[in-house]
Amino acid sequence: MNTINEMTLNFKAVSENEAFARSCVAAFCLQLNPTLDEITDIKTAVSEAVTNCVVHAYPKEKGDVSINVKLTQDTAIISVSDYGVGISNFAKARQPFFTTKPDDERSGMGFTVMESFMDKVYLLKNSEKGVTVLMEKKFGESEKEVVGG
Ligand code: ATP
Ligand code: MG
Repeated sequence: MNTINEMTLNFKAVSENEAFARSCVAAFCLQLNPTLDEITDIKTAVSEAVTNCVVHAYPKEKGDVSINVKLTQDTAIISVSDYGVGISNFAKARQPFFTTKPDDERSGMGFTVMESFMDKVYLLKNSEKGVTVLMEKKFGESEKEVVGG
């Protein structure tokens, strides 16, 4: 993997930062000339990952969220990390409609949305505390599909 550019963003896990974070990541990815659809996909996935940090990671005092974006020639590799309570069962958390907050109008579809809008989604346990969601999106895929048949 040849990283041509990289950025890191740190902010408090509060809902006011959801729109800020997705806009920052989208703006950074623009240098790879993505389509509007591709940028919308990235914004949606980042939004879901950050919202999870805001809603689930810190039940008491709000901690930090850290986003790192690496760009190669044609791919954005985005990690969204928190340092909160963590997830005990990754497989269960990723299942469609699984939520630990059904009373808060959560539908349990956040990870499913990330998976459908990004090419790859990995869940990683942080060495200290919390979770990292690592996502990849390759740009220019839709054009290739059309050309290829
Ligand atoms: P929705 O995203 O549809 O509003 P949701 O957030 O509950 O609902 P997912 O985003 O799919 O659904 O997450 C599934 C479950 O994984 C959550 O209910 C929560 O228990 C757990 N989870 C997700 N992200 C985190 C996190 N950063 N820290 C701790 N737990 C998390
Ligand atoms: Mg969610």
